Amino acid sequence: NRQWILRQRPRGLIQPGDLELVESPIPDLKETEVLVRTVYLSLDPTNRTWMNDAEGYLPPVGLGEVMRGLTLGVVEQSRSDRFKVGDVVSPMSGGWADYAVVGEDGLRAVHRFPGLPLTASASVLGMTGLTAYFGVTDVLKPQPGETLVISAAAGAVGSIAGQVAKQRGARVIGIAGGPDKCRWLTEELGFDGAIDYKNEDVGAALDRLAPDGIDLNFENVGGDIMIAVWNRLNVHARMAVCGLISAYNATKMPPSPNFSRIITHRLNVQGFLVMDYAPRAREMVAEMGPWLADGRVKWKVHVDDGLEGALNSLNRLFTGDHDGKLLVRVSEE
Ligand code: NDP
Repeated sequence: NRQWILRQRPRGLIQPGDLELVESPIPDLKETEVLVRTVYLSLDPTNRTWMNDAEGYLPPVGLGEVMRGLTLGVVEQSRSDRFKVGDVVSPMSGGWADYAVVGEDGLRAVHRFPGLPLTASASVLGMTGLTAYFGVTDVLKPQPGETLVISAAAGAVGSIAGQVAKQRGARVIGIAGGPDKCRWLTEELGFDGAIDYKNEDVGAALDRLAPDGIDLNFENVGGDIMIAVWNRLNVHARMAVCGLISAYNATKMPPSPNFSRIITHRLNVQGFLVMDYAPRAREMVAEMGPWLADGRVKWKVHVDDGLEGALNSLNRLFTGDHDGKLLVRVSEE
């Protein structure tokens, strides 16, 4: 069983030597445990934050421990009455490994939506979709005609969040890196505007695309991009703080916005975590499933083959060198 072990805390982008791929024996199963073969490993920006020795929403991964990660896999052996060999499951703490031994309480059965591939369950109908869907419908609650700006808009969460907001009648502007991603947003996903932050002045583009200001912000990036949006938020604007990816590799914190706008513009700024919405996954699948099945909402996955490449794959999230939800295929479905 190959496992990625955290050896030292990275500084900046992950370097070879920060984690090590080691071979370990698979322990015998105890009562109620199952052995899960990893099929897909989900790589998420937050993985990088778990490597830091800092206070977070979960404890940091310890040095010498298997790297934590969300996985989707197949039960290969079972000593549980609730899960049988062949079941498709998502362990809460599968980790970066070929196999994981998991207690039945740490497992969730994966229900496949008819007509959609397993990669959908690992992305748009999994954690990514849950984040996008509830970040929009529960945190932002867009009203028809309101103008919403999303950063990292062509990414896994951003692209879905924008389309959910379109379904609720909002005007959606996305910020993304590069002309191809921006074209995808406006020409295929139906965004009302896109800003290529790598080649355009974000503030000037916002003034052009949102001349009446911004009512809603789904924030994924932070730093200068967030500040450009913040300085254009309208009175009573609402902001869902989903992620601050520009800070995850930073050795020096990016600049922050001026908080006095919260008072002067009576802003409603709310952070949220996807895990709080896990009990409501069925609600999301019930509304999004049909949108995906009939093509109203489009989604992409970027699949890299091989657990051995997971480190290089993770860095793609910080360079933008991926197209859609980033997954590693660890073994065949
Ligand atoms: P994405 O698929 O969006 O990948 C990350 C993208 O972020 C990259 O493709 C890149 O896009 C962009 N990016 C990276 N670094 C920077 C930077 N310095 N400045 C501007 N853009 C940058 O990942 P996810 O959809 O999985 O995650 C998106 C955000 O949502 C993250 O902040 C993540 O932490 C957050 N999140 C929060 C959750 C929660 O519970 N609150 C749950 C899941 C995700 P580009 O090519 O456009 O630059």
